[in-house]
Amino acid sequence: MSKVIGVILAGGSGDRFGSAKPKQFVDVLGRPVIEYTVDAFEQNEGIEEIVIVTREDYLSWVNEIVVRNAWRKVKHVVPGGKERYHSTLAAVELYSDDDLLIIHDAVRPLISQRIINDCIAALGKYNAVDVAVKSVDTIIQVDENECISSVPYRPMLRNGQTPQCFKLATLRHAYEVALQDPGFRTTDDCGVVVKYLPEEPVYVVAGEYRNIKLTNPEDLVVLKHYLQTR
Ligand code: C5P
Repeated sequence: MSKVIGVILAGGSGDRFGSAKPKQFVDVLGRPVIEYTVDAFEQNEGIEEIVIVTREDYLSWVNEIVVRNAWRKVKHVVPGGKERYHSTLAAVELYSDDDLLIIHDAVRPLISQRIINDCIAALGKYNAVDVAVKSVDTIIQVDENECISSVPYRPMLRNGQTPQCFKLATLRHAYEVALQDPGFRTTDDCGVVVKYLPEEPVYVVAGEYRNIKLTNPEDLVVLKHYLQTR
C-alpha cells in the first residue's frame, strides 16, 4: 500500500535573511515559521504521514515542537545535508518506491489546502508534479559579465514554488542518474527529473502568489499581513 508523505525541508541556513536563526525557525506573530507550515500538512486529509528534515543543531528543538503541537502525523525528524537535494534524499531513504512524496519548503508557511489537494490529485495521473505561478517579471538570463545572454518569452515562463511531488521510484531514479553526472547541480527536485528523465512528464499545478518563500527581510511584512488576515 502506498502512503502519501508530506516532506518538510527545514535544513537550510537562510543566509540571505540576515537573522540570527535560520528563517524557518524565526518567530512570526508568536510562532516559529515552521509551525505554520507543518500545521498545513497536519490538517490536510490526504497527507498520511509527515517527515521533517532539519539541521543537526535543531533536531532536539524540532522534536520538542512536535510534542508541543501534538502533531500526530509527524513520524520522523531527520538531519538534512549540505545542499537542498541532500535533504530531499534524506527523506527518500525513509520510504518505499510506491510512496508519494509531497516535498515542501519549510519557509513557505502560506501553503493552501487547495494546492496540497491538487498536488495529491495530480499524482493520480503523473509521477512528477510541480507548483508554479505565471511570471509577472520578464526573466533575463545573464552571463558571467552581468550582460544579458537571453530573454525567454514571458508568457511561457512560470515561477516555481513548492510542493514538488513525486512517486518515490521516479525521484529516486532521477537522482541515481543525476549523481553519475560529475557536473550535477540543482536548486530543486523537479529540475532533476526534467534533466535526467527527459521522457517523464512533470505536470504543473497552479500555485498562488501568496505562497511566498520567506527569503528576504521584506517578505516578513507580507507574511505577517496574510497571517493576520486569514
Ligand atoms: O535554500 P533554499 O531557499 O532553496 O531553501 C528552500 C528550503 O529548503 C528551505 O525550507 C530550507 O530550509 C530547505 N533546505 C534544506 N536543506 C538544505 C538547504 C535548504 O532542507 N541543505
